[in-house]
Amino acid sequence: MIDSHCHLAGEEFENDLDEVVARARDRGVTAALCILAAGNEAESTRAAAVRQAWPDVRFATGIHPHQAGDFGADPDAGVRVVREAVAQHGACAIGEIGLDYHYDFSPRDVQQAVFRAQIALAAELRLPVVIHTREATEDTFRILQDAGGHVRGVFHCFTGDETMARAAFDLDFHVSFAGILTFPRSEGIRAAARIAPAGRILAETDAPYLAPVPHRGRRNEPAYVVEVAARLAEIRGVSADELALQVTQNFMQLFGEGGSRSNPTA
Ligand SMILES: [Zn+2]
Ligand SMILES: [Zn+2]
Repeated sequence: MIDSHCHLAGEEFENDLDEVVARARDRGVTAALCILAAGNEAESTRAAAVRQAWPDVRFATGIHPHQAGDFGADPDAGVRVVREAVAQHGACAIGEIGLDYHYDFSPRDVQQAVFRAQIALAAELRLPVVIHTREATEDTFRILQDAGGHVRGVFHCFTGDETMARAAFDLDFHVSFAGILTFPRSEGIRAAARIAPAGRILAETDAPYLAPVPHRGRRNEPAYVVEVAARLAEIRGVSADELALQVTQNFMQLFGEGGSRSNPTA
């Protein structure tokens, strides 16, 4: 099993990183994709500790829509920061990037400009993208469609319905299910999980946020991807082992050998 999206370099894990990693490994979570906010010095420093604690972790880096405002006047400056962060961390993907109209922490036109600029960078570097989209489905798809099929990637923490999932698959994108899948009211997300082609699904925690049932309300961590995967397997009517194998294959197919492993000598 692989946790396809977590923020292990967040300050929430600073004090017990080794225990968090040990619990994940004990439950068969062999690797994770750790998201780094490009240009965040503190997180970048903690990434070194993550790399040491868990050599099989891979990294993705980008400018989150919440931070897009920092680069509002100059999306090219944002691209330079992401380009440097990709090189520094040997990132295998650009992300998380996208649009968030729920919080609107950055003006929408700025979010769109910074998102577009990073998609162009991903196309240039031939890296997949990790998409964060909230209450911005139409604009997100329009911008991805404008890229003309030159980028691949994943809709992380998928909270859409069947229709949105089909639109993602039409674009050759993956969808990644998180703890919200286990919440009582998430029937629409479960419907999407039911119809998704086996080759297009991933599982994630988005730790430290959004812990799945039965850990809901506590700090989330990569070990809990097992609960997400168990629910996903149940919904799809396959065994937990089969599901784990499938998402591991899908992860490798999407993030593959792009970027370097966190431990280049391994
Ligand atoms: Zn996100
Ligand atoms: Zn995230």
